[in-house]
Amino acid sequence: MTTSANQLLEVRGLRKYFGSGSHPVRAVDDVNFCVNEGETLGLVGESGSGKSTIGRLLTRLIDPTGGQMIYRANGAEKDLAALSASAYRPLRSQIQIIFQDPYASLNPRMRIRDVIAEALDTHGLARGAARTPRIHELLQQVGLRPEHADRFAHEFSGGQRQRIGIARALAVQPRFIVADEPLSALDVSIQAQVVNLLGTLKQELGLTLLFISHDLDVVEYLCDRVVVLYLGRVMEVGPTEAIYARPLHPYTRALLEAAPIPDPAQRRTIPLLKGDLPSPANPPSGCVFRTRCPRVEAACERADMRLREVSPGRFTACWRDDSQ
Ligand code: ADP
Ligand code: MG
Repeated sequence: MTTSANQLLEVRGLRKYFGSGSHPVRAVDDVNFCVNEGETLGLVGESGSGKSTIGRLLTRLIDPTGGQMIYRANGAEKDLAALSASAYRPLRSQIQIIFQDPYASLNPRMRIRDVIAEALDTHGLARGAARTPRIHELLQQVGLRPEHADRFAHEFSGGQRQRIGIARALAVQPRFIVADEPLSALDVSIQAQVVNLLGTLKQELGLTLLFISHDLDVVEYLCDRVVVLYLGRVMEVGPTEAIYARPLHPYTRALLEAAPIPDPAQRRTIPLLKGDLPSPANPPSGCVFRTRCPRVEAACERADMRLREVSPGRFTACWRDDSQ
C-alpha cells in the first residue's frame, strides 16, 4: 500500500481466528488497509464478513491472531497488536468505539453524569470542580442539554442514547473513533441527525473515523474512502466517489448493482446476494468470492487474492486485468 505521511493507522496482514483445531473460524484473514488522519473510512460488507471483529481488534477489545496494527501519532509509531494490555492502556483513550446498540451499551440504572464521569475517571481526566462543566460541555457537543446529566439512561430515546454513547467516547478526547453500525438500531428519521452529528464533530474536533455500516447511501454520503470486505478478506479499497461510479471488483459491483432504489425515500443497504455465504471456517480456495461470482472461471480457483493497486489509491483483489 502506498505510504503517505498522514497515515494514522496501518493494518497489515491482520488475522483473527476463533476456535482452535484444523478449521477455526477465519473471521479476519490477512486484512490490509490504512486509515488516513482526519478521514472517514467506510467499512462495508455482508453480515458475517468480519466488520465488527476488525473494530474490536483495532480497539483491542480482542487480541489478533496475527498481523500488525501500526498506529502513528505524536511522532511515534506503535504496533497496537504487539502491545501488552498494560502497554496499550495509555493509548486506550485515543481510540474509542461507538456501538450499534445504544440500549445495550448503557447501564439504565446510571445517571448520565456518572456514565461520563466513569469514562473521565478511567483516564484520570477532569477531576473535582472541573468535572461538571466538562460533562455539560460534552452533552452540548452532542446536542443534549446540561440538565440531561441528572437523568437515567432509560429516560432517553434511542437517538439520544446514541448521542450519550458518542459523548462518552468523546469524553476522553480520542483521535480515532470506530463507529460500528451506530445507526442500525435507530429509526430512519433519527439516523440522519446522528450522521450529521458525527460529520460535524469530526470537522470540529479533527477526528478520524472508521465507519462500519451496511447502509450504502450513508457510506456514500459520509465516507472519504471505502474498504469492501467479504468473508474476512478485503475485496476492494478506494475513494468513495470512484468506487460508487465504477466498482472494480465483481463483489463490489454485485453489492452496488443489486441494491436498487425503488423509492427515492428509501435507502440502499447491503443486499442479499444469490447463493449462501460460505463458512468462514472452510473458505473456498483461491478467490473466496468465486462461489458466488457472476464472472467465475477456472482460474479463480487458483487466483492470487492479494490486493493490488491498479491505479493510484485504487486496490482490488480480483486477478482479472479487465477489472480496471
Ligand atoms: P460482521 O460484523 O461483518 O457481521 P463479525 O465480525 O461479527 O461480522 O463476524 C465475522 C465472523 O466471525 C462470523 O462468521 C462470526 O460468526 C464469527 N465470530 C465473531 N465473533 C466470534 C466469536 N467470539 N466466536 C466465534 N466466532 C465469532
Ligand atoms: Mg457487525
